Amino acid sequence: MKLSTQLLIDGQFVTGDGPAEPILNPATGELIASVPEASFEQVNRAVNGAQRAFAQWSRTTPASRSTLLLRLADAIERHAEEFAALESLNCGKPYLAVLNDELPAVVDCFRFFAGAARCLQGPLAGEYIEGHTSMIRRDPIGVVGSIAPWNYPLMMAAWKMAPVLAAGNTVVLKPSEQTPLTALRLAELASELFPRGVINIVCGRGESVGAPLVEHPLVRMVSLTGDIATGQKILQSAARTMKRTHLELGGKAPVIIFDDADLEAVVAGIRTFGFYNAGQDCTAACRIYAQGKIYDKFVAAMTDAVASIRVGGPREEGVEMGPLISDRQRNRVASFVERAQSSGHVEVTAGGKIRPGNGFFFEPTLIAHARQEDEIVRREVFGPVVSVTRFSDAEQVVQWANDSDYGLASSVWTRDLGLASKVASHLQYGCTWINTHFMLTSEMPHGGMKMSGYGKDLSLYALEDYTVPRHIMVKL
Ligand code: NAD
Repeated sequence: MKLSTQLLIDGQFVTGDGPAEPILNPATGELIASVPEASFEQVNRAVNGAQRAFAQWSRTTPASRSTLLLRLADAIERHAEEFAALESLNCGKPYLAVLNDELPAVVDCFRFFAGAARCLQGPLAGEYIEGHTSMIRRDPIGVVGSIAPWNYPLMMAAWKMAPVLAAGNTVVLKPSEQTPLTALRLAELASELFPRGVINIVCGRGESVGAPLVEHPLVRMVSLTGDIATGQKILQSAARTMKRTHLELGGKAPVIIFDDADLEAVVAGIRTFGFYNAGQDCTAACRIYAQGKIYDKFVAAMTDAVASIRVGGPREEGVEMGPLISDRQRNRVASFVERAQSSGHVEVTAGGKIRPGNGFFFEPTLIAHARQEDEIVRREVFGPVVSVTRFSDAEQVVQWANDSDYGLASSVWTRDLGLASKVASHLQYGCTWINTHFMLTSEMPHGGMKMSGYGKDLSLYALEDYTVPRHIMVKL
C-alpha cells in the first residue's frame, strides 16, 4: 500500500520541516509510518497560499465548484478500497465497516455539498426604504482553518472541507497527528482537480501546528471537531483576532428506554450504536436510562449481547469492534471503569478489562446500577463502555438526561409515539432519535448545544455557517 506522508502547501507536496510524528497501528502497536509535522513557516505558507487562492476561488460560480466536488467524490469512490485499507490500518477499525459504512458517507458528503452549493436560499430583494432596493448576498468568509480529530479521520476531513469549498472559501486542514494518512492521500486526489492553494493539508500536533493556524491573522474562521478543552483554548485564541468559530465538541448521549419499548430492538440497537468504532464516537449510545419494569430484563439481555461482540484486528473474519486509537486512550478508558467499580454500588456485568497483547484493545463493557451523580454517567469516556441507570417516570428521566454539560445527541425508545415526541421536545440535545440512534444523513444537521459546542456539520445549515449574509442596497 502506498503511504503518502507529504503535506500539501500552496499546490506543492512538501515534507514537513518539523519533528516526525510516529503513526502507529492500534491493532498491533507497530509503527506504520513517520509523518514530519509542518513548521511554523510552513503553516504560514499554507495560509498565505489559501489567501491568494481565495481571490479567484471565491469568484467561481457555484456550478463550477460543484463540478469539482463531484469529481472529487468520484475519485474517492474509485479509490474506496484503498481509503478503507488506509483508514482501518491507521485507526484499527474493521476494514469492512470502513468500506461499507464510512466511505459511502464520505462520498455522499461531497456530492451533497456539490448540489447544495447551487441551492442556497434567502429573503427576496425588495424596497424596504422607499426609493431603495435591498438584497441579501451570502458570501464566503475567506481562509478557513479546519482541525479534525482521530475517530473518523476521512469523514471528518469531508465534513470540514466539502461545505467550506462549496461556499467558496479556501481551506487549511489539520488532521489529527495520530491519523493523518487518509487526509494526505485525499490531498493527492484533490490536488489534481482543484486550483493551487484552494486546499492545503498540514499535519502535526495541536500546540505546534494547530495553535499557529488558529492564531494566524489571515485565517478568518476556525472549525474544530474535538475535545471541549481544545474548543475552549481555540475560543480564547480566536478572540484576539475576532475569528468566527465552529465547534463540534464532546458528547454523552442519554438513551431513554421506557417500559413498553421493544426489548429486542433496543438491545440490538445499543449493541451496535454503543460500541460502533469501539465507542469512540461523540454520539455513542453510552448513557442508558431504563425504566423500572424493563430494567432487569434489559440488563440481562444487554449483558449477553455485549459479551457476544467480536473484538479483533481490522481484517479478522466477522470482527465487529477494533482496538482503541492509542495506549493512552485505552488507559484512560480503563481508569474510568476502575473508578466506577470503586464506588461499590455498580456492577460490571460484561467486559471491564484491557485485552492482553500488543494492540490497544479494551473489552466491550456494560456497567449496571450506575447513579445519576456517578462520574461514569456524567463524563465522556470515548470508549466501549455503556452505563445503565434505573428511572421511574418521564419527568425524572428528562431532568436527568438534561442534567449534563453535554448537548449533542440523545434517543428515546418506546412504542408510544406521543410520549416519545413529548420527551424529544423537552430534551436539550442537537439531535434526538426515536427508536433508533446514531443515524446521520447529509441532508440533516449534526451539532451540539451547551458545552458540546455550536455550528452545524452536514445539511444546508453547514453551508450557511461557512458563509456570511451581506446586505447590498441600491438607491433608485
Ligand atoms: P482533541 O481535542 O485532542 O484533538 C482534536 C484536534 O485538535 C486534533 O487535530 C488536535 O491536534 C487539535 N488540537 C489540540 N489542541 C489544539 C490547540 N491548542 N490548538 C489547535 N488545535 C489543537 O480531540 P481528539 O482526542 O482528537 O478527539 C476526541 C474528541 O473529539 C472527543 O471529545 C469527541 O467527543 C470529540 N468529537 C466530537 C465530534 C462531534 O461531532 N461533536 C465528533 C468526533 C469527535
